[in-house]
Amino acid sequence: MALKRGVLTVLLAGMLCCLCGCGKAAAPAGSADAGSAEQAAPSGSAEGSAAVTEEMIDPPLEDEASDTGGQAQPLAGIVICLDPGHGVTSASGQERVSPLSQETKAAYVSGAAGNSQTEEEVNLAVAQLTRAGLEQLGAQVVMTRQTNEATVSNIERAQIANNAGADLCVRIHADGSEDSSVFGMSMQVPAGGLLGTPEIEQPSARAAEIILEEVTAATGARSRGLAPRSDLTGFNWSEVPCVLLEMGFLSNPQEDALLATDEYRQQIASGIVSGVCRWIESGR
Ligand SMILES: [Zn+2]
Repeated sequence: MALKRGVLTVLLAGMLCCLCGCGKAAAPAGSADAGSAEQAAPSGSAEGSAAVTEEMIDPPLEDEASDTGGQAQPLAGIVICLDPGHGVTSASGQERVSPLSQETKAAYVSGAAGNSQTEEEVNLAVAQLTRAGLEQLGAQVVMTRQTNEATVSNIERAQIANNAGADLCVRIHADGSEDSSVFGMSMQVPAGGLLGTPEIEQPSARAAEIILEEVTAATGARSRGLAPRSDLTGFNWSEVPCVLLEMGFLSNPQEDALLATDEYRQQIASGIVSGVCRWIESGR
């Protein structure tokens, strides 16, 4: 009964406001009124709730949105480097595999290719979707490349993350194999005696484990687990925690087809974003 009387009061007040033309002027200052309108609205008639919504509920919602940006920002203050692997380039050359070694490796390596896409393309597409997801949660994102035509060596990729003071670098790749039946996702992690910054080993492994868990959960892909690598230039020069996601095999027809769809790419990106959040929340 009390509620019904409340609705009636609100409706009458709304009608009076309309009649005297004061609805718009009264609404911004009427936060207390809007509060009671919100309580009354659920039991009101369709006509009643329409009148209440337009004149009284909208302004407080707008205020709320402008305060918080419309979404929680759990990654505010966090810097993430996204490194979409490879790039189309005519450049060649060698670079040192580690700051601790004179051994050299090719600075630019072309990626795998499937029937549906090249690795450069899918790596960049997923990185861009991941960027959007991370930025929505307040993170600052630094990319090592934003076009498929790109000449960025593996040392330069590491230095982009280092110079940005990234909290984490996520390298995004797709796999290839001579055996087309091989499929699944894996995470490569920095390991071994050539790491210029050995301290990155533990937080990188934790990030890899969590992100792989989230990405396989989001996609339903098979997990092939973590692969420690001591021979990757990009890891050995990294001064910040760094992981490398292999999103699946372009040499496997099923995974190649999945990886070419916007839906699957978005699932991977969402999994990476969830993993980054969990890693940050759990203390790294
Ligand atoms: Zn690759």
